[in-house]
Amino acid sequence: MSGQEPSALDRAVADAKVERRSTTVLIIGGGPGGYVAGIRCGQLGLPAIVVDDQPLGGTCLNVGCIPSKAVIHAADEFARMVSAAGHSPLGITTAPPTIDLARTVEWKDGIVTRLNRGVGSLLAGVGTEVVVGRATMVDGKTCDVALSGGDGGGRLLISAEHVVIATGSAPVALPFLPFDDRVLSSTEALALTEVPRSLAIVGGGYIGLELGTAFAKLGSHVTVVEAEDRVLPQYDAELTNPVLKRLLDLDLSIRTGTRATGLTSRGLTVSEGGAEETIEADKVLVTVGRRPNIAGLGLDGLGLTIEDGAIVVDDRGHSSMRNVWAIGDVTGEPMLAHRAMKQGEIVAEAIAGEPSVFDARAIPAIVFTDPEIVVVGEHPDAAAAAGEIVVGRFPLAANGRTMTLESETGFVRVVARADDHLVVGIQAVGVGVAELSTAFGLAIEMGARLEDIAGTIHAHPTIGEAFAESALTALGHPLHIATPKPASRRSGSG
Ligand code: FAD
Ligand code: NAD
Repeated sequence: MSGQEPSALDRAVADAKVERRSTTVLIIGGGPGGYVAGIRCGQLGLPAIVVDDQPLGGTCLNVGCIPSKAVIHAADEFARMVSAAGHSPLGITTAPPTIDLARTVEWKDGIVTRLNRGVGSLLAGVGTEVVVGRATMVDGKTCDVALSGGDGGGRLLISAEHVVIATGSAPVALPFLPFDDRVLSSTEALALTEVPRSLAIVGGGYIGLELGTAFAKLGSHVTVVEAEDRVLPQYDAELTNPVLKRLLDLDLSIRTGTRATGLTSRGLTVSEGGAEETIEADKVLVTVGRRPNIAGLGLDGLGLTIEDGAIVVDDRGHSSMRNVWAIGDVTGEPMLAHRAMKQGEIVAEAIAGEPSVFDARAIPAIVFTDPEIVVVGEHPDAAAAAGEIVVGRFPLAANGRTMTLESETGFVRVVARADDHLVVGIQAVGVGVAELSTAFGLAIEMGARLEDIAGTIHAHPTIGEAFAESALTALGHPLHIATPKPASRRSGSG
């Protein structure tokens, strides 16, 4: 080694302030992937350490799923009161409401803190240790952790038989719109203590539409700028149309086929078909996707296979390097918390020598807009490309429970193979349909056929009855709409 620069490991060990530890499983990141892996390791008797310099729960708990759903709920309640202060068909009258967003954020933070503590006690309960700090990989079995928080100041060199990378993802910034106090990512938007008068949102995907709807309900004038020709372009128009209609009812401006180009004191500059204009914006929210967190992790010299910026893993979460594993957003799309959690369970079981693999037949996806969208399994077009299918679609306008919730829009759509009626896809849009994702996922995972869903007694009055009715529709004999012929499509019929 003489004449060569000392390695990071040599330097770390030579540094007297560095302590050494060893464990069986070292998990970098305490988000839904990492903390679940930590819990499962503990349950399986594997000594494990979770390292994170942020409160436990990751993006999802601290600045993602939970905070956004709290703000969406507050906005829904506010909008309900605004509507009662105007003309409520329910006969409720109230004074026009006001909102103190700082208190809303305090309430939201209270929920987050309770859940942070909950995750901590679950890990402690199974004997998995948490180290507060930032980890850098020194080699495939060792991490150098810069300690922070209560452990602040020093460094810890942790060696492990297995390293699980669960570092999640970060918002993508546009080079001409760097994040600052006016250009926000979802993290800053969820911490705003005043409702912005005008808000321009770049990107009409999950976050743009979930938060755009919430801020419009809270009183912002919201403009969504989407590069594609539709918002939520990953979903079919039949599913997104009820959402689009509601966005327009809420006075959101939707600018599709439009790209942001920059920012001036007046607002966001955009280009549509070559024409430039400025959209008034006190704040700009950039939601053009998220990228896996691999930078600064020390992966450069390790030889891990990385594609499109994400760590490539097999169906157990194993990377291209022996005993180095990766789970969650750092492994790419779909970047969803429930996928990260399932990967967390699988990876711990695989390390413990169990024959677990990630073999989910479908990963549910929900957009928490108004109304909500749920997608599980295959879209009719994808399913039709593989063979003849039947599709049953039941409108929520014919569902009594939906009407009692003051809504009539949306539908449940079930897609099944024509020959054996195996259900391969279920989609829905409507008020409250997010909770149906459980039944949809279970049906596909259990290999249900149309007859199984139609034959299950669904309680009345519930939105879930529309699920059974969609199966009955596909079978040609719905009970609560006029009896149609089921749509039957041949392979490649589009
Ligand atoms: P993360 O949750 O990102 O956690 C990674 C952790 O690793 C972080 O705590 C980070 O501090 C830590 N870390 C990173 N680098 C290091 C390092 N070098 N050393 C130590 N620690 C490190 N998904 C859903 O399923 N449903 C939703 O409703 C939903 N809503 C969302 C709303 C918003 C606004 C956002 C932004 C995301 C939302 N998501 C939602 C996505 C969801 O948050 C992610 O899919 C999920 O958090 C991924 O989990 P993870 O464990 O892979 O990573
Ligand atoms: P997204 O991929 O959902 O949407 C990004 C949108 O921005 C796309 O429609 C894209 O066409 C558009 N876009 C990209 N570049 C653009 C540009 N220069 N100008 C205008 N439009 C542009 O990404 P997101 O909303 O940032 O969310 C990131 C991820 O977080 C999601 O993919 C999802 O995995 C996760 N998430 C999930 C939920 C949920 O499960 N309910 C909620 C929020 C976030």
